[in-house]
Amino acid sequence: MKIAKQFHWEMGHRLPFHKELCANIHGHSYRMWVELEGGLDPNGMLLDYGILKEKVKPIIDEIDHAFMCDENDDVMKQFLAGSDFKHVMVSFTTTAEHISEYLIRKIWFALQGYTNLSRITVRIHETETAMAETSLTREEFQKVV
Ligand SMILES: [Zn+2]
Repeated sequence: MKIAKQFHWEMGHRLPFHKELCANIHGHSYRMWVELEGGLDPNGMLLDYGILKEKVKPIIDEIDHAFMCDENDDVMKQFLAGSDFKHVMVSFTTTAEHISEYLIRKIWFALQGYTNLSRITVRIHETETAMAETSLTREEFQKVV
């Protein structure tokens, strides 16, 4: 069985390595589908959507209206160090692919106690027409943490 819920947030970023527009400071209205796979509980639920929302919300709150800064981006690091602007330092280039890998680990960590879950899939929509997807089984998650 699979269930999924959509989340959204606004976030700034840039890709310093990019040769065109993405090297500029810009933002996206990110949308994320979190898809859970597993068995049903005796009530016929995989996971209460309310619990899914409650567990994912703090992860989204941390990045909403923030600038996600690659720790190797010295220009932005210097700028942010001298400001109070909300930002999150990460150890990767802030592509949708990397953001999906970053978020799926946090989501698995938050949901690992729900032992009927066997797989989580995360799809990050950076724009209306572009998305990245990653998927981890419980066993794969336990190997990467
Ligand atoms: Zn972008």
